[in-house]
Amino acid sequence: MAQRIGVMGGTFDPIHHGHLVAASEVADRYALDEVVFVPTGKPWQKSESAVTPAEDRYLMTVIATASNPRFTVSRVDVDRDGPTYTVDTLRELRDQYGDKTELFFITGADALSKILSWKDADQLFELAHFIGVTRPGFALTDAHLPADVVSLVQVPAMAISSTDCRRRVAAGQPVWYLVPDGVVQYITKRHLYR
Ligand code: ATP
Ligand code: MG
Repeated sequence: MAQRIGVMGGTFDPIHHGHLVAASEVADRYALDEVVFVPTGKPWQKSESAVTPAEDRYLMTVIATASNPRFTVSRVDVDRDGPTYTVDTLRELRDQYGDKTELFFITGADALSKILSWKDADQLFELAHFIGVTRPGFALTDAHLPADVVSLVQVPAMAISSTDCRRRVAAGQPVWYLVPDGVVQYITKRHLYR
């Protein structure tokens, strides 16, 4: 049978329980064999603001996903030079996993609504099925995309963002229970977001 692979792209600066619960929920709902987390290299939407080095974001993603046998982390975007475009990520994963694999790209309501502005939007939908997940504070709509390319999924509401986690660390407030324990410890150890 064809492998069913979820793809969870993100800056993961840092990865938090909103990302993890979304991936877990979609994996269950769509009977995915695996969810690959793909930390961005240089995210093209975020180039003006400083982003934590890719290697730190990659390692936090590994730490956060290590205990789940269905979760893996890919270095495709971290290792590719230049800005990260989802279309390039999906092409590379498609080459890697082969034509028989079905790809399901998981994205939050905020990112889904902007999808038509992404590079080579029309090709995106030939590479993967898109799954939009609910996110507190954002309306989940199909972005006027046809039903055969995008599905909408309700996931447990986690009002967590990486922006808020960074702000909390900078202000000396706790991020315990917003991000996995190992990620809290990694942030402290590497003095991130101070
Ligand atoms: P930032 O505040 O830095 O933008 P973020 O919390 O939005 O960080 P990203 O790495 O930008 O995290 O998001 C990666 C993907 O995860 C996006 O598709 C985003 O919509 C989704 N996502 C992030 N947080 C949540 C959440 N709490 N619930 C559901 N989806 C989420
Ligand atoms: Mg975001």
